[in-house]
Amino acid sequence: MNTSATGGEPALAAQPFRIADATYEIVIVGGGTAGIAAATSLLARRPDLDIAIIDAADVHYYQPGWTMVGGGIFTPEETVRTMAAVMPAGVRWLKSHVAAFEPERHAVVLDDCRVVHYKQLIVCPGLKLDWDMIEGLSETLGRNGVTSNYQFQSAPRTWENVRALRSGRAIFTQPPMPIKCAGAPQKAMYLAADHWKKSGALNHIDIEFCNAGGVLFGVAAYVPALMEYIEAYGIQLRFNHNLVAVDGGARTATFVRTGADGAKDTVVKEFDMLHVVPPQTAPNFVRSSPLADAVGWVDVDPATLRHKSFENIFALGDVANTTNAKTAAAVRKQAPVVAHNVLAGLGKSADKRLHHYNGYGSCPLTVERGKIVLAEFLYGGKVAPTFPSWLIDGTRPSSLAWQLKQRVLPKLYWEGMLKGHEWLARLEQEH
Ligand SMILES: Cc1cc2nc3c(=O)[nH]c(=O)nc-3n(C[C@H](O)[C@H](O)[C@H](O)COP(=O)(O)OP(=O)(O)OC[C@H]3O[C@@H](n4cnc5c(N)ncnc54)[C@H](O)[C@@H]3O)c2cc1C
Repeated sequence: MNTSATGGEPALAAQPFRIADATYEIVIVGGGTAGIAAATSLLARRPDLDIAIIDAADVHYYQPGWTMVGGGIFTPEETVRTMAAVMPAGVRWLKSHVAAFEPERHAVVLDDCRVVHYKQLIVCPGLKLDWDMIEGLSETLGRNGVTSNYQFQSAPRTWENVRALRSGRAIFTQPPMPIKCAGAPQKAMYLAADHWKKSGALNHIDIEFCNAGGVLFGVAAYVPALMEYIEAYGIQLRFNHNLVAVDGGARTATFVRTGADGAKDTVVKEFDMLHVVPPQTAPNFVRSSPLADAVGWVDVDPATLRHKSFENIFALGDVANTTNAKTAAAVRKQAPVVAHNVLAGLGKSADKRLHHYNGYGSCPLTVERGKIVLAEFLYGGKVAPTFPSWLIDGTRPSSLAWQLKQRVLPKLYWEGMLKGHEWLARLEQEH
C-alpha cells in the first residue's frame, strides 16, 4: 500500500474517511510543519509503515514566510500549498478534527464521534492564536490600520499599512510568552522601520514596541545587535505592556502595564498603525485532555519527546511543553528524533535506545531588508550556531543569513523537511 515518502503522487491522500472505527500503527494529530515532517521522517526509515494523519485543513502554510510577506518580500502564495500536495504518498489522510484523546484505550475521538485507534500516537496540532483574548481585535483586524503577520490573510495588510503610513505613531505588540517564533513581533517592526527609513518617512513616525515581557530577546547574546537597530530606528521600548483591547474606530490600544513593584495600571495609546501578535495557548482539546500539563501543553520529556505518563505517545512542534523556541527550525530537529523513538517503541528499529533532542531552535531576526541576526540556541539559551562565525556570525547582522532566509530555507522546508530528507537536521544523538 505505501510508497516512498519522497516520490510519487499522494495516491491515498484525498480519499474520504468513512469507516466507523479504524486502527493504524501510527496516528499523527495535525498535518502542519511537525505532522508532515514526522510522517516523512518515519517513511524515510520504514516505507512500509501504516500511518494516518488527521487534519481537517485544506491548506498547509509555511508560516516563517509570513514575516517576509509583511515586509513585501514574498507573495502570500509563496507561503501556502494545498494539504493534498504535501501529504506524503502512502499515508492515510483523515480529513477531520480530533476532539478528544483516550490514551488508556489507545484512541482519539474525532469531532463526529468516530474513533481512531493507534499503536503509537504523535501529537502535533500546533497552538491556538487567541485573538479574542484582546477585546475588539477580531472586529478590526485587517482594517483601521490594524494588522498582524500571524495570520495568512493579514500579513499582506501589514505591508500595505507600512507603505501607506507617512507620519504618525506605529505600535508593535508582543504578548506574554510562550509564543511561536518569539522574534517575529520585532521582525515585523524592523522591516517596517527600514522601509520608512529608506522612503524618508522615519523622522515623521514614532515607533513603539509594547512588549508584555521584560526583555527585548530571551537570549542575551543577540540583544546588543538588536539594540543597535532599536536606537538607529529611534524605537521606544515599552516593557511590561500587555495589550488587552483595541478600538479600531477610535484608533486606540489599551495596555495593562505592570510596574517594578508589581502594581498594574491601564495605559491607552493612540495609533495610526498597530501590528498585533495575539496571546497563544495550547488548543482547547489538548488543554482539557489527560495529555496536558498544568498549563495545557502536552507534557513530554524534553529530550525524548515521549509523554511523561503514556509510553506510546509523543509530541513535537508548538504544542509540546518543552522550553525550546517554538519554531519550524525546532521541528526540523525534533522530527527525526520522534521518528526514531516511535520506531523503537514499535520494535521496528535495530537501535532500541531512545534518541534525544537538545532543544535547538532558531529565529532569523530580519533587522533590515537584506540583513538578518541569526539567533540559534539550545535548551537553556546556549548559543548553537550552525555555521562557522567567519561565514555567519549570528550575533551580528549578516547578508548571507538574509540569503539563507529568502532563498534557502523555503526550499529546505518544502523539498527537505516535508519530504523526509532531514537536511540540516543532524543532532548529536545522546542516549
Ligand atoms: C509570523 C510567524 C513567523 C514565524 N517565523 C518563523 C521563522 O522564521 N523560523 C521558524 O523556524 N519558525 C517560524 N515560525 C514558527 C513556525 O511556523 C511554527 O513553529 C511551526 O509551524 C510549528 O509547527 P506545528 O506543526 O507545531 O504547528 P502548525 O504548523 O501550526 O500546524 C498545526 C496543524 O494542526 C492542525 N490541527 C489543529 N487542530 C487540530 C485538531 N483538533 N485535529 C487535527 N488537526 C488539527 C492544523 O490544521 C495545522 O495543520 C513563525 C510563525 C509565525 C506565525
